[in-house]
Amino acid sequence: MDTVINLSYIVSATLFVFGLKMLGRVETARRGNMVSAIGMLLAIVATLLLGGLDYTWIIVGLVVGGAVGWWAAAAVKMTQMPEMVALFNGSGGLASMLVGWAEYIRDPNPDLVTSIAIFFAVLVGAVAFTGSVIAWAKLAERMTGKPILFKGQQPVNALIVGGALVLGIIFVITPPTSYGLLLIVILLSLILGVLAVIPIGGADMPIVISLMNSYSGVAALAAGFVIQNNVLIVAGTLVGASGLILTNIMCKAMNRSLANVLFSGFGAVTTAGTMKVEGEVKPITAEDAYYILEAASSVIFVPGYGMAVAQAQHAVKELADMLEKNGAEVRYAIHPVAGRMPGHMNVLLAEANVPYEQLVEPDDVNPTMELVDVAVVIGANDVVNPAAREDTTSPLYGMPIINVDQARTTFVLKRSMNPGFSGVDNPLFFKPNTRMLFGDAKTSISTLASEFKEAAAAA
Ligand code: NDP
Repeated sequence: MDTVINLSYIVSATLFVFGLKMLGRVETARRGNMVSAIGMLLAIVATLLLGGLDYTWIIVGLVVGGAVGWWAAAAVKMTQMPEMVALFNGSGGLASMLVGWAEYIRDPNPDLVTSIAIFFAVLVGAVAFTGSVIAWAKLAERMTGKPILFKGQQPVNALIVGGALVLGIIFVITPPTSYGLLLIVILLSLILGVLAVIPIGGADMPIVISLMNSYSGVAALAAGFVIQNNVLIVAGTLVGASGLILTNIMCKAMNRSLANVLFSGFGAVTTAGTMKVEGEVKPITAEDAYYILEAASSVIFVPGYGMAVAQAQHAVKELADMLEKNGAEVRYAIHPVAGRMPGHMNVLLAEANVPYEQLVEPDDVNPTMELVDVAVVIGANDVVNPAAREDTTSPLYGMPIINVDQARTTFVLKRSMNPGFSGVDNPLFFKPNTRMLFGDAKTSISTLASEFKEAAAAA
């Protein structure tokens, strides 16, 4: 039986790896999710074949957990996905913490490797649990999204980390007499998760969630060593590593270091560069914008957070169809951190049935931006801010952007001159080839589409 179980674990681990790989491409992501889920089902079934299990509680857990998971997945709105991921990461951390704790209660005299694993499972698991709950509360606006900063915050955190590590070392050396120490480590770790996340602004929560995802993986890896379960070790390692890679990708796309996200209290104060903005703002009406679009043979849509707020994706697809009918080539340039979570724009555009092959990355579109007749910026701001390229004093300086300012004409659809998430002014709005189409993005796009419809009806 052991051979069958271990062989099943190898198959599960392989399915996890292939599933993850498939998640990297939009076309295969859905199937990748299914492949990984089948891997998980196989791992669970194989684990249930282990001898000496009490199936009553396992069945209760499966029914309750399965029902909650099913309900949550069915009820969640696409825009609330980051909150749900935060709660699931938190549950993973809590589960690993409980595994470590329960194993100590089962055997209060574990060997050295197991006691180290118990310590890490409770430490990292508890931090992932409370850290994820705070991230969820900030995103769901159940608490203030502003960074909560107090004097001596970082020394306090350092003291807690140091205290937990010292207690952990004593626990590992003398486990049979150290139940009290383990409980204190659990308490300190729970507090640490809260303190580590409260100073981070609400808008940086997607990065925190990705980091907590990684922590929950590391906790699962430690729990795998605690109960000596190979597939849990493999799954934990994959989650830990992939969460870290995603965190890194997000930081790079914002040109910020992880330390800056975690410790700077970004969003507590708004900042701006010192370069003087020159030029004048030239508003345009949807009716006039229509004439320019009607003559365009190459159009690039650049969606941002405002498209998500306005829920304009279906209207955008409708307009794109009309432009194509009119003979224009239509593409969508997607910045990796457009919106408020990784893949935010891809998900919205997929919901509106935009073909994958029309989605392009900044690096693919920037070199030929001069050939684009019209760039339509839909509620994006920071990701198209030329100050990131030109103004060495700007907080955005160095962040890769989509160079819409180099297109022949650029329409910027937004409601006001307000800055975006970073609070940095945008010189794009003052460039000679930019026209500001003020108003809600969905209304503006729908008006443009109506102009095309009227023209088609009149023809
Ligand atoms: P921004 O936050 O820079 O700008 C969004 C713009 O949308 C605003 O200027 C706003 O202007 C406009 N807007 C809001 N509502 C509407 C509406 N109903 N109709 C039209 N416009 C609207 O968004 P970007 O997508 O350009 O940039 C994302 C920012 O978020 C970056 O700074 C990124 O670093 C950050 N971030 C992204 C994460 C991710 O994973 N994607 C994670 C964490 C942070 P107005 O109010 O005038 O309408």
